[in-house]
Amino acid sequence: MYPDDRRDNWYKGQGYWSDVPEEKWKSWRWQLQNRITSVEQLEKYIDLTPEEKAGTRFAEFKLSLAITPYFFNLIDPKDPNCPVRLQMIPRAGETRTAPEELLDPVGEESTMPVEGLVHRYPDRVLFLVTDRCASYCRYCTRSRLVSNAQDYNFHPSFEAGLEYIENHPEVRDVLLSGGDPLLLNDTKLDYLLGRLRAIPHVEFIRIGSRIPVFLPQRINDKFCEVLKKHGPIWMSIHVNHPKECTEELYQACQRLSFSGTPIGNQSVLLNGVNDNPEIYRSLIHRLLMMRVRPYYLYQCDLITGSSHFRTSVEKGVEIIRALRGNTTGYAIPQFVIDAPGGGGKIPINPDYVEKVTEDEIVLRNYEGRLFRYPLNPTADKPIVEEPTGEVPLLV
Ligand SMILES: *Cc1c(COP(=O)(O)O)cnc(C)c1O
Ligand code: SF4
Repeated sequence: MYPDDRRDNWYKGQGYWSDVPEEKWKSWRWQLQNRITSVEQLEKYIDLTPEEKAGTRFAEFKLSLAITPYFFNLIDPKDPNCPVRLQMIPRAGETRTAPEELLDPVGEESTMPVEGLVHRYPDRVLFLVTDRCASYCRYCTRSRLVSNAQDYNFHPSFEAGLEYIENHPEVRDVLLSGGDPLLLNDTKLDYLLGRLRAIPHVEFIRIGSRIPVFLPQRINDKFCEVLKKHGPIWMSIHVNHPKECTEELYQACQRLSFSGTPIGNQSVLLNGVNDNPEIYRSLIHRLLMMRVRPYYLYQCDLITGSSHFRTSVEKGVEIIRALRGNTTGYAIPQFVIDAPGGGGKIPINPDYVEKVTEDEIVLRNYEGRLFRYPLNPTADKPIVEEPTGEVPLLV
C-alpha cells in the first residue's frame, strides 16, 4: 500500500466552513442551499486563471456551475491543475467545439421511446428521472439536458416511464439515472422503487449517482431505510481521483453497504485528472477499502466542448495493462468506449493474445512473458508417448 492511501491520511473536516454548526454541515439541504454557484463566490476562495474566468462566464449557456461546500473543500486554491478543480471549475476549453463532438454523444435521443427512458439493450433500460445534480461535472455526457442551461426543458413523466417498463416484459434491469436520482426526496424514491419492485419481470434495480461523492450527507438513516425496504438495490457511484475518497465518503459507503447495497464505481478517463497508472492504482485501492468494486473506466465521450478533457484511447489501455497482474483482480475495472451513435458500451482490453494457430494459443502475461495453451488436444494424440521395449522397474 502507498502510505498516502492509508485511511488516516484521507481528508476529513469542514474546511472553510469550520464555524458552521455540525448539524447544519451534516444536513444535505444545507449543503445544497450553500453551494458555490457564481464567479464572485469562487473568487472569494480562489484566484481564478484567465482560462477559468472565460469558462465560468460561458457556463450559464452550457452547464450550470454548482459545487457543494463539502466537495469544494477538496479543491486546492493554489493549484490550477488540482484534479478536483479541473473537474468542477469551467475552463475556456468548454467554449470550443471540435468537429467530432456532438450534443448527444452516445446517441440516447434516438432510442428514447418515452421521454427520459432509453431502451438500447435488449433486457435493460436507462431511466432518467431528473436533470439536476448536487454539483456539475464539466465533462458531463448529458450536459445537453443536465442543469437545463441549454433550455432542453427535461420533464420526464415517471408514470409514462413506469408504464413502458410494465408493458415490456423483456426489461429485467432498470437503471435510474439523470441528473442524479438521489436529489429526489425519500418519499419520491420510496414510491419509484416500490413501483419498480412491484413489476414481476424487473429483477434488477440500480441507481447511478454521484451524490455519495458530492453530498455524502444525503446517505442518511432515512434514505438507507428506503434502500433496505426495496433492496437489493445496486448503486454505481462516480469517483475519478483518490482525493475524492474522504472519510465522509468512506462513512457514506459503509452506510450504503450495511443497508445491503452493493456498490460499483464508474470513472471517466480525464486528461490531467486520472490519466496516470499510479494515480489510478491509488484510486482503485481506496475504492476497495470502501467496499466499492471498480466497474467501468470510460473513455471520455465526444461531448461538445470537452477536447481539453480527452486523452488517447491508448492511455486507458496502458493503465489497464499496468494494473493487471500487479494488483487485486477485483480492483480492475473494464475499460469501455460508449460508442458514438448509440452502439453501447464496447470493452477495450490490452491485447494479451500473441497468436492463435490451429494447435495453440500463445499468450503474453503481465510481465511480458509468453505462454502456450494447446487448442483441440484430442484423444488420438497421446500426451505421453507409449513406452516401447522393456518397461523399467520403478524403485
Ligand atoms: C450504460 C447503460 C446501461 C447499462 O449498461 P451495463 O453495461 O449493464 O452497466 C443500460 N442502458 C443504457 C442506455 C446505458 O447507457
Ligand atoms: S454527476 Fe453525472 S449527470 Fe451529474 S453532472 Fe456529473 S456526470 Fe453529469
